[in-house]
Amino acid sequence: MYQTTYHRPSSVDEAAALFAKGSESKYLAGGHTLIPVMKQRLASPSDVIDLSKIKELVGIALSGDALIIKAATTYFDILRSADAKKAIPALVHLVSVLGDPQVRYRGTIGGSIANNDPAADFPAAVVALDATVKTNKRSISADDFFKGLFATALEDGEIITAISFPLPAKAGYSKMRHPASRFALTAVFVTKTKSGDVRAAATGASQNGVMRVPAIESALKANWSPGALDNVRISADGLLTDIHGSSSYRANLIKVMAQRAVTAAG
Ligand SMILES: Cc1cc2nc3c(=O)[nH]c(=O)nc-3n(C[C@H](O)[C@H](O)[C@H](O)COP(=O)(O)OP(=O)(O)OC[C@H]3O[C@@H](n4cnc5c(N)ncnc54)[C@H](O)[C@@H]3O)c2cc1C
Repeated sequence: MYQTTYHRPSSVDEAAALFAKGSESKYLAGGHTLIPVMKQRLASPSDVIDLSKIKELVGIALSGDALIIKAATTYFDILRSADAKKAIPALVHLVSVLGDPQVRYRGTIGGSIANNDPAADFPAAVVALDATVKTNKRSISADDFFKGLFATALEDGEIITAISFPLPAKAGYSKMRHPASRFALTAVFVTKTKSGDVRAAATGASQNGVMRVPAIESALKANWSPGALDNVRISADGLLTDIHGSSSYRANLIKVMAQRAVTAAG
């Protein structure tokens, strides 16, 4: 047994102050990653600071040319959001294929990207949509936020407050789900911006977590259609090999998922 103290702050400032007081503090959001990790004794925080009841961290809004999703908003709330459906339907589709109903009911967008699991869904959307991660200290661009397996640009005690997604001209997501865990064996999010730029991000594929796929981006920039990817070859270098699939299988999946994502985007 080890002792841990549970806190339920009502503001971001209070949460940050509590974090600083603890000897080994951890924020808690949906708990779908942190609680299993604590049960396995892979983490034994002195203080657990619950962000899920902080009102300023929950909500979804359309603001000018961006969809803003606050960090402690659950997947379930994103699924139900009329603003999200209208602004970026691909994001709502991503949530519909994430985990199972229990995970969607508790899990949060902030918890997902702070954890940065190499097979998680949201990092692909954040990178492909060129989103900005807002914290209690600064704004971080998607390309600077993810730093490899389970690593991000967040400093100790820094709290993600919201993610701002610029509205794309087109966006699509396609995922090959692991049938047991529901995590991505490989999934790809593609977007075309209003200025004609194209971004593609794959999750579940790279040994370094979420990755952009330049070969897909340049082919789609020249011709936004699934057929434009027919002759694209993705290198297997640096891709994951495990009992579920080899690196060359994942390389092929990146292309196939990208083609399906473009079809879905229209
Ligand atoms: C059975 C199962 C299936 C799953 N399937 C999928 C899947 O298909 N796709 C997928 O993407 N994920 C999947 N997940 C993971 C799920 O999405 C988790 O909920 C998510 O990874 C973490 O979100 P959370 O809100 O539960 O965070 P928590 O577990 O509460 O926290 C995770 C980490 O993030 C930190 N954190 C949380 N919020 C913040 C914040 N605002 N600022 C800074 N740090 C913060 C915490 O301190 C902790 O280190 C699955 C999980 C389970 C148990």
